Formats: sequence, structure tokens, C-alpha cells
Amino acid sequence: MANPYAANLGRKVPQPTNRVLAATASGILRQPGLAMINFQFGGLTVTGSLFPRVADAIDAERIKCWTVKEFKSQGADELAPGMVVNAQYQIKPNAMIFSSDDFGKGPGEDRTIVHEAVHAAFDLDAPLGAKTQTLSIDDEAAAVVAVAFYIRLCNKPVGAFKMDAGGPEEPALDLVDRLADRTGPMPTWRGPYVITPEDAQPIREGAGRKWHFDKFKGKDGLDTDNTGALYTYDGVPVCSKKGCK
Ligand SMILES: [Zn+2]
Repeated sequence: MANPYAANLGRKVPQPTNRVLAATASGILRQPGLAMINFQFGGLTVTGSLFPRVADAIDAERIKCWTVKEFKSQGADELAPGMVVNAQYQIKPNAMIFSSDDFGKGPGEDRTIVHEAVHAAFDLDAPLGAKTQTLSIDDEAAAVVAVAFYIRLCNKPVGAFKMDAGGPEEPALDLVDRLADRTGPMPTWRGPYVITPEDAQPIREGAGRKWHFDKFKGKDGLDTDNTGALYTYDGVPVCSKKGCK
């Protein structure tokens, strides 16, 4: 009798989502204050409805949550050797990667999950199989602005959010606070609030410095202009099974 398992020998079994991480991330993204976010940064719009939709996708395992170790066991090759990841959304496997099982429970880790959820939302909204590109610098800046709104709308401590001197966080939080002064209590905001080029500029520059989407000297000592770098989103399949669209 043929070995019924023979066909599966040597085949990688897809790792199920990490339930602990999925529950943490989904819970953070379902906080009601997030629903009030509504702004436009450059060509990108971030609305509150994105967050529960990402949470739904996490619950349905359309977006996986894995520790770095689980991610690597997939044979995925996206992480450079020695690369340290606290949390990161990976576009190709549609997965949020975290440093450990209990990520999201430490101070400020909720902010990181909100940040990564903005990238995940752009992927979720991208047509499947097509290549939807965003300007990386604006993509990161929009994620930072979303976190600044999150801090104020959900009454979270600022903590180490503004820790990076010259980063995008400080101008982003300043902007959100100026908006509150200008337009009254936050829940009355109407949107999408279009962030003006003047307000966007310091946030964009900070994001450029932080993620190296700027002009800098490369390892080879040559001048590198990375200001036009693009992220390419390819959508998230409707169900999590392999080959399912
Ligand atoms: Zn990011």
C-alpha cells in the first residue's frame, strides 16, 4: 500500500498564524478611537475603517502574524541575515512579523502595531496580483501620522514616540496637536483632513532620514539618491489557503 503521506514528504507545511500575536494585534486595531482617523498625506489616504478591516484580515488568517522564528521556518528569504526585527509588515507573504510571542504588550508596542497596520492596509486595498506602488517616504510618513493621531485619539502615553531626534514623529505629533487647536475637540474632526505640503514637509523629511529615503553616502562611499524609492503592494488573497484567490 502506498504511503498516503508520501506526497507531502519534503513539502513545507504552511505555518498557521500565531494565535497569541493575532489576538493582540487584532485587539489593538479594534480600539474605537482609531475609527476617527481620517487624513490625506500626499497621494495616500488613511481612514479609521482601515484598522478594523486589517483586524478582520488578521482574524481570518488572510494576514498572518508570526514571530521571526516562525517566519524563517517558512523558508522565507526576505529577512537579511542578522536583521533584527521588532515588528514589520512583509508584503509578499502578507504577514506581520514580530520579535516574540508577547509583542504588543510592552509599552509603546501598540504604536508599532498601528504603524505596521497602515502598511498592511495599503496591501489589503491593492488589487490582487497587480503591482500598486506608493512613494516609500510618504508611505512611512503616513504611518507615523496615523500613530500620532492614535496617541491623541486613544489617549495613549507619548512615551518614547518622539525619541528619535530629527525623526518624523515630533512634527507629526505637533501637527496633530495644532489640528486639535484649530478645529476643536478631536471627535468633531471632519475628514479626510488634507495635510498641506507645508505641514507634510518636516514629517516627510524626518521619514526620509529615518528610513534612508533620502540622499546619503552608500556603503561604497558613493552618493545615493533614494528619495524616489517605491513600495510595491500586490494585494492579499481572499482566503488564506495556498492557491486561493
Ligand atoms: Zn513603516
